[in-house]
Amino acid sequence: MLSVSCPSCGAPVAFRSHASVMAVCEYCRATVHKDAGAVRQLGKLSEVLEDYSPIQIGTAGKVGARSFTVIGRIQLRYAAGMWNEWYLMYEDGGSGWLGDFSGQFTVTAQRPLPDKFPPFEMARVGAQFDLGFGLAVVSDRREAQCVGGQGELPFDVGDGWSARVVDLRRGPSFATLDYSDGDKPLLYTGVAVTLESMGCQLLRDDEAIKASAGRYRGKVGALQCPSCGTAIAYLPGMADKLVCQACATRIDASTPQAEVLAAGERNDKVPLTLPLGAQAKIGNQDYHLIGAMKRTDDEGETWTEYLLYATRGTFFWLVEAGDQWWRSEVMDEWPEPGTPAVPHVSLHNIRYERTLDYEARVTWAAGAFNWKVAAGDRARVREFERGMASLAAENTQDELSWSRSTPVAADQVRAWFKLPAPPAAKGAGLSASLGELQWRFLLWILGLNAVPLIVNFGETMIWLLAALFALFIPPNIVKKD
Ligand SMILES: [Zn+2]
Ligand SMILES: [Zn+2]
Repeated sequence: MLSVSCPSCGAPVAFRSHASVMAVCEYCRATVHKDAGAVRQLGKLSEVLEDYSPIQIGTAGKVGARSFTVIGRIQLRYAAGMWNEWYLMYEDGGSGWLGDFSGQFTVTAQRPLPDKFPPFEMARVGAQFDLGFGLAVVSDRREAQCVGGQGELPFDVGDGWSARVVDLRRGPSFATLDYSDGDKPLLYTGVAVTLESMGCQLLRDDEAIKASAGRYRGKVGALQCPSCGTAIAYLPGMADKLVCQACATRIDASTPQAEVLAAGERNDKVPLTLPLGAQAKIGNQDYHLIGAMKRTDDEGETWTEYLLYATRGTFFWLVEAGDQWWRSEVMDEWPEPGTPAVPHVSLHNIRYERTLDYEARVTWAAGAFNWKVAAGDRARVREFERGMASLAAENTQDELSWSRSTPVAADQVRAWFKLPAPPAAKGAGLSASLGELQWRFLLWILGLNAVPLIVNFGETMIWLLAALFALFIPPNIVKKD
């Protein structure tokens, strides 16, 4: 470790990694450049904004068998939000990055760029390129500004530094092309990870986050709509893009200073089967319904999507179309595309055939989401099916994501949310009286036939038993969660 005196204020500035060329003075925010043993001041770098991240300088963990320590950070802001790139120093001397997108993490390291690579303008969402690990799909492309930094970094960064990056995915693999320095990008590849899978230690705990942010990260909190005062429940640091249920004002609460993105006037009252704020017991997890949106396709079909959050930190969507329900999860591992001529995809060697290709439009939204949502948002959706499971690719101009859906029985949804049976539906009444009919029929048969049957045990008895058995088979087997 090299310790130098800050050229601006004299405070000690540490360089723990040989790969670092710059460090931010903790005391005066001067950016200190290290060059052949000499140091000089470059400029200043703003203090990072409080963003509820549990990672901090000093956090340690493992990727596979390699141990790392977090030694630096840049915080970047783009149109849809903010993210952190944490600079990692590995025990074996290597370095890398931990991307931190509001609770979703990737670990990457720099790799040699192949001879063929797309220019930034060509790397459109959905396009495919081979960067040395097979055909990968562009999942998003964005331009961002550095809004703050800490610790040491492998290149010089100052206030106003801007980044141009393209993310790609292939199966569980992740890659970033970083065009910040010009037309020839730097290539970083890696995988999606979780804090648990890295066995992270020295994380900021809930109390520390609350002390600096005023709220616990990921615990359902409430914020008053700056425009009409209605309380909006949300998840600090996890689902913090809000739409007021009463006035449709859109708010970005990704930092404790909530920012109004677009003022609204009134949000139509839309009847929902499951209201915002509803709670469910699914398995042994408690879920909160924090966001809901209505969508429609080109043919006028409409459906509702509900965002559910478990206190342990996982999200899923419940999709309601008519009386059909699906459970849908965003996929970390992407399916592999087939050929354009034969539209299918494969996941774990299982082939899913394309069934639908349509445009979906948001007609109404309210509550909290983990990305910016607004009425009018359009996305192209392609669905692929195999048996009861379906995979869907959803893309906008800026982003592509995959999700996997499976059907859920309406009774199951009612059980999760402790909802009453549907109001006096004919079906329910009929099945109730059927139970009674079954008994009457049974008594009638016994009364009529039991005595002679006992005496004359023959073919009739077999048929009778079969008929009785059929009568008493439960109409459907309710799946227990
Ligand atoms: Zn200083
Ligand atoms: Zn409001």
